Amino acid sequence: MPRTVIVGAGVIGVATAWLLCRAGHAVTLVDRHLQPAQGASRANGAQLSYGYGDALASPAMRRKLPAIALGLDPAFRVRLHADPEFLVWGLRFLLESSPGRFIDNTCELLAMAATTRQLLEELLRELTLPFDHTRSGKMILYDTAQACEAGAAVRQLKQRMGIRQEVLDRAEATAIEPALSLYRETIERVVWSEDDAAGRPDAFCRALMPVLERQHGLQTRFGHEASAIVHERGQVTGLALQGGPTLACEHVVLATGAALGLLPRRHRPFAGVWPVQGYSLTAPATARAMHVSITDLKRKIVFARLGDEVRAAGLADLGPHTTRFDDGRFASFRDAAVQAFGGAFCHGSGVDLQPWTGSRPCTPTSRPIVRNGWLRGLHLNLGHGSLGWTLSLGSAQQLLRVMQAQASEPRPAPA
Ligand SMILES: Cc1cc2nc3c(=O)[nH]c(=O)nc-3n(C[C@H](O)[C@H](O)[C@H](O)COP(=O)(O)OP(=O)(O)OC[C@H]3O[C@@H](n4cnc5c(N)ncnc54)[C@H](O)[C@@H]3O)c2cc1C
Repeated sequence: MPRTVIVGAGVIGVATAWLLCRAGHAVTLVDRHLQPAQGASRANGAQLSYGYGDALASPAMRRKLPAIALGLDPAFRVRLHADPEFLVWGLRFLLESSPGRFIDNTCELLAMAATTRQLLEELLRELTLPFDHTRSGKMILYDTAQACEAGAAVRQLKQRMGIRQEVLDRAEATAIEPALSLYRETIERVVWSEDDAAGRPDAFCRALMPVLERQHGLQTRFGHEASAIVHERGQVTGLALQGGPTLACEHVVLATGAALGLLPRRHRPFAGVWPVQGYSLTAPATARAMHVSITDLKRKIVFARLGDEVRAAGLADLGPHTTRFDDGRFASFRDAAVQAFGGAFCHGSGVDLQPWTGSRPCTPTSRPIVRNGWLRGLHLNLGHGSLGWTLSLGSAQQLLRVMQAQASEPRPAPA
């Protein structure tokens, strides 16, 4: 039985643990936090966006970049600084925004998202996991018909991939989701993805882990910082924990989001992953709250119904590595969320809006880094950007294939 240590118990690490346990690995999950899903996976937008896995770098985004750089779009903030890695990341992002690269990246993301959907349905046929999972679909609101029309080619592509999306007018969409009547501004078109879903990623991790412990003997080391990958003659032999023991193993999987510190500098993907900070709030739902997930494209805020609460998530702040909670940024996000769908959640004085900030581990392509590392037995599953929950199981499946391919290669002869 191969012994595998996964560093990172976010949604990617936990999804990977499930598939590796199922494939017969003896898995230990390590995280510096005391519980799973305390990083980017904690209170994200909760969307399982199977139909909206579009790469961030796109021709449309390229057109918006001057306004973003000038600070004219409140949903974005770019703080330029003289880190060469940051500048190269930005340049690579620009190169990925050509029509051809955008389509290639988006196709790969959609295929990975489709695998997540299939595996999650499979998992939920076997287990009841309390994570407020809802299959109620998603609506994207457009304030002009032209903006919606600009996405027609991508919708056709999705249709060819078997993804169901429909363009509705406001009345048709309101008949499906009455909460749209709370939105006071113009809605010219709505793109309706009936098969999209939502659910709490942190609750998913907390619910799945005990099952893996019981059924597959999963071991956990919470509250431990992984400090070094131990190896001998090009083969992983263990993972060292700071101030603690070394866990002996043949495989180490890095599911560390944007953190690449465990890789020696010369083996790190240069300008491979950069954190993009966002915010969320979670508040009690009112009687008129939405059941369908809604993206207000004008404000770039996504709303999801999670049990008796509504979650809103948004903002994309790019700059030096930091996840400091910025009160001013949160206040502007909260005000925008209230303007859009304040009628859907309680936000008066005395209501705790459960504010949260986290960083999306973004690659220039929006595609995660799922590959083997520089040592035999070292594997990477990180950099899932704004879609980590949606891609989680699909990306874990891809990693398993990559690991199996390496295992079938002949071992180099001892020197
Ligand atoms: C505002 C916002 C909204 C979002 N909305 C959505 C959405 O609606 N749908 C969607 O699909 N995605 C969404 N995302 C993206 C998604 O949250 C991320 O892609 C995903 O959570 C990444 O998961 P992860 O497991 O890779 O990272 P994380 O959850 O950050 O987990 C990485 C873990 O690694 C641990 N770690 C790192 N280094 C070490 C070390 N040396 N030793 C020990 N532990 C270590 C960290 O403690 C952490 O727990 C959103 C993100 C943000 C910020």
